[in-house]
Amino acid sequence: MSFNSVLGQSQPKKILHNALQNNSVAHAYLFYGQESVGKKKLAIALAKTLNCKGSDPLEACGECDSCLKIERRVHPDFFFIEPEKSTPTAREAVIKIDAIRELQKKLGFLPYEGKKKVVVVDSAELMNPQAANSFLKTLEEPPSATVLILVSSNPNRLLPTLLSRCQGIQFHRLSPTHIREIIQSQYAEAGESLTEVELDFHTQRAQGSVNQAMAENLAEMEALREQLLDVLENVSFNRMDIVFGFAKAWARQTNQLQSVLNEFLGLIRDLALYRSGCGQTDIQNRSLSAKMMPIAQTRSLKAWMDQFTAVRNTQIALSGNANAQLFLENMLIEFCEAA
Ligand SMILES: [Zn+2]
Repeated sequence: MSFNSVLGQSQPKKILHNALQNNSVAHAYLFYGQESVGKKKLAIALAKTLNCKGSDPLEACGECDSCLKIERRVHPDFFFIEPEKSTPTAREAVIKIDAIRELQKKLGFLPYEGKKKVVVVDSAELMNPQAANSFLKTLEEPPSATVLILVSSNPNRLLPTLLSRCQGIQFHRLSPTHIREIIQSQYAEAGESLTEVELDFHTQRAQGSVNQAMAENLAEMEALREQLLDVLENVSFNRMDIVFGFAKAWARQTNQLQSVLNEFLGLIRDLALYRSGCGQTDIQNRSLSAKMMPIAQTRSLKAWMDQFTAVRNTQIALSGNANAQLFLENMLIEFCEAA
């Protein structure tokens, strides 16, 4: 894994290349941006580049023993810290003070076999308060020949005192072309291949993040969206069976409710776009366009916008402790009223 193997992220790469070139690599960085866009990969690539035994100071060779040891996380000067669950059944993984103390002990020595010691703290926002305060001391008095890299997709949850001592580097969403390439290569690594249609589906829905793209099952999502589109098409005061049936069935699936409502939002958004005469390019659910176009014309633009608001309000209510069945019924009755 080298800089070149991290797709996209030209700005972060440029900043780090300049720093390497000018010998001005900071002692602490914060790599931040949404999930799975290459932050951790680039942090590891920087660790390799700083310690590579090859001839290019700007790009790790990926083949020397230093690069290979970092890849396998067995290099004595490379430290990778990530949240851990204290017991298998614990609800949330955290980074505890013990891990930070052990790190600090090791940072007290000069690099053992590399040129620089590199510390990567993945999901740094999950340091508990004791760990974060302890880590702050390391940032305040950085050990020599050491580069600290905090990686976070929720930097607003980090202590401001930590943030202020790191050079922030923002990572951006990946372009659809890069997402497509990454998905294809990840499936290939697993010995599977995707059809063009499946690749398009995952890429379209990725919202710039690879994990999200990989998590979804095409057939299940298609079935769900068709079901939701049926509701949007047919629900009315004459068809209250749809209201009660839907609310009853989904109220029990509490884990999936928010994503089902997200699907509703996506579909209603597309219907509103069709209703206002927009072309295909902005439509998310393109595979359903033949079904959606006639449905879009059955209601006014305002009616679709009212339904959108009803779904949003339901999402907000359900993020609290609201009674799911009641709120879903209420939402669908608002759909009927908007008709
Ligand atoms: Zn190397």
